[in-house]
Formats: sequence, C-alpha cells, structure tokens
Amino acid sequence: MGEQVLEGKSVVELPTLHRAYLADRESGGIRCGVCHQHCLITEGARGTCDTRINIGGELFTMTYGDVIACESRPVELKPFFHLKPGTTHLTICCPSCNFECRWCQNHHYSGTAPRPLKAEQAGMRDLVAAAQADGDTGICVSLTEPLMMFEYTLGLFREAAPKGLDCAYVTNGYMTPDALHMLHRAGLNAMSIDVKGDEALYREYCGAREGDLPVWENVRDALQRGMHVEVVHLAVTGLNDNKASFDAIVSRHLEFAGPDVPLHVTAYTPDRDYLEPATAAEFLEWAYGEARERGIRFAYVGNVAGHPGENTYCPECGRLALERLGPHLERDMTEENRCASCGYTFPIRR
Ligand code: SF4
Ligand code: SF4
Repeated sequence: MGEQVLEGKSVVELPTLHRAYLADRESGGIRCGVCHQHCLITEGARGTCDTRINIGGELFTMTYGDVIACESRPVELKPFFHLKPGTTHLTICCPSCNFECRWCQNHHYSGTAPRPLKAEQAGMRDLVAAAQADGDTGICVSLTEPLMMFEYTLGLFREAAPKGLDCAYVTNGYMTPDALHMLHRAGLNAMSIDVKGDEALYREYCGAREGDLPVWENVRDALQRGMHVEVVHLAVTGLNDNKASFDAIVSRHLEFAGPDVPLHVTAYTPDRDYLEPATAAEFLEWAYGEARERGIRFAYVGNVAGHPGENTYCPECGRLALERLGPHLERDMTEENRCASCGYTFPIRR
C-alpha cells in the first residue's frame, strides 16, 4: 500500500488524522460501524458526519483530538441532576455531527467542518490534568455529538477513569452496540441521552437513517451496564409538542429506562433553519405533570430558569430536596442522600 495522502499532505503529518476503528471493508467501500448511520464510504469519500474519510482504502477519523471548545461547566448544564450535584465537568467538543437537526442549538459547532490540515491534537494528559486542577469531577464530551471523537475519547477515558474522574457523553445516543461496549470498557460511565421524537421525526428532521429505536436500546443497554443515564427530550414547537408524541416518549421511557431514571423535558428556542416560536410554557407544564402522573418519579423542566420543575422532590412524601436555579444547585436539603422528612433514599450518585 502506498503513502496515504490528504490534499497533498501525508496523513502521518496531520495530528488529528487517526486510523478509524470499527471499519469493515466491503465491496464498494468501507462500512463504518461507529453509529447507526452505517455509512458505506467509497474511496476518497467521507461519511455522513464528514469526520471519516476513506483514503487509499483505509478509513481515517479527521477529528482525533480536534478540541474546539474546552471549559469547566456545572454538571446541571448537561443536564446531570442525579450525578454528583453541584459539581463541574471539564467539557470539550469537536467539530461536526452525525445528525443534522434543523433546530440545532449548537450549530456553530455541529455545522463546523473538520479542519484536518490545520487542527492540532489536544493532549489527553493535559485535559486530565486540567480537570484535576479545576476540581472537576469528570470529563464530559458535549455540545456536538461526542461519537465524532470516538477513537480519541477511548484514549482520553483510559487516562481519566483511573484518576477517579467520571467519563461522560452528552449524546444523541446513536452509537452501535460495539461502540458502546468499547466506550464502556474504556471508562465511559455516564450519559445524558437526547431522545427527539418518533421514527418519522428522526428521519425527516435529523437525517437519521434508523429512527428512534437504537437510541432507546442504548438507554437500556447503558443502564444494564451500570452506567449513569439521564434522558433529555427537547419539545420542539410544531413537531413533538403534542400529547400523542409526548405520551409515546413516556411509554418508551418507562419501557427502556424505568421510573427512576430522570426525564428532562426541555424548552426549544428557534435556531439554525427551524424558526417556530419557543416551546410554550403550558406544554412544558402539562408534560411535566403527565410524566409524573404516569409514574416517572424524576421528571424535570429544562431551559426555564426558576421554574419549580427544575427542583428534585421526594417521590414518596413530596418534600423539596434539591433546589436549582438554571444550571446552579442552590440548596441540597437531603441528609446523606435521604429525604429529610421521610428518609427515602434518592437514586442520586454522590
Ligand atoms: S460515525 Fe456514523 S455518520 Fe460518521 S461515518 Fe461512521 S456511521 Fe457514518
Ligand atoms: S444531534 Fe445534537 S449537535 Fe447534532 S445536529 Fe442534532 S442537536 Fe445538533
């Protein structure tokens, strides 16, 4: 095999080029096995996500360590409400995404193409050291789809997990079982998973080829592996802000996640090329009540700072337990993770 070259440069000279894992040769190209888009990538072409390229019959990721944002952020922003409340994660992201949600709130990152000719590779040990120096309890890959740094995060988590840091993804949950297995083995122990709606919505508005089922299966599989999982549902005006759609989400949540896994129903705001008005407060409040009534013990309202639905209440006696304001934990009134009134133990990891 000859030297592999991208736009006149040898791939070995490009710091964010790295051989892709989970790549299978097939007639006509290379099948990527990282996410449920299952791209067949022909010679010289890229996958749907734009981050993987077939060069000379080998598949490469072009975003290996291309960290374009990095800062310490509250876990409540992910949102993780039941994972070490009141702490922070070093939060990183890379360009691009495997979906194209029309309302993407992070379009300035997810719509950015990989920059293999000029990007630098962030040092894994530097990131771990930065998290430790900041007092972060974990490293979280967020803002765009973390699978876009699949290979890099395997290495990063292998560095971070033995230091006692949580290793987290804020994800659309479209990874294959093989990818989830590898990530978990490397140290991934927490996921905030976005469920967007029904099969038609995934296909028509996100460019996802296999609908919603793989996402719910990953919710279930991650829980079975003992990972911390919270489910997030963005209520998008005119698409899924209706009773039938939300009732289906609640049914799926009870089936795949169970009553103790948090369900965050969050408000959308117009962005990218979807410009309907922001989610109506009445819908969020109805959904919050509906989820609780149907047995989800920890429903939350998101993106409405100051709403009482941001707080955690004891599901047994109703007492206020954790009070939040936006991404900030204001008061933790539990006593050793127990309700101060009735003694109920919250399923919150400390
Ligand atoms: S990660 Fe997903 S979208 Fe990207 S090339 Fe692989 S299968 Fe396609
Ligand atoms: S999956 Fe998330 S980051 Fe990607 S396009 Fe959709 S909303 Fe944006």
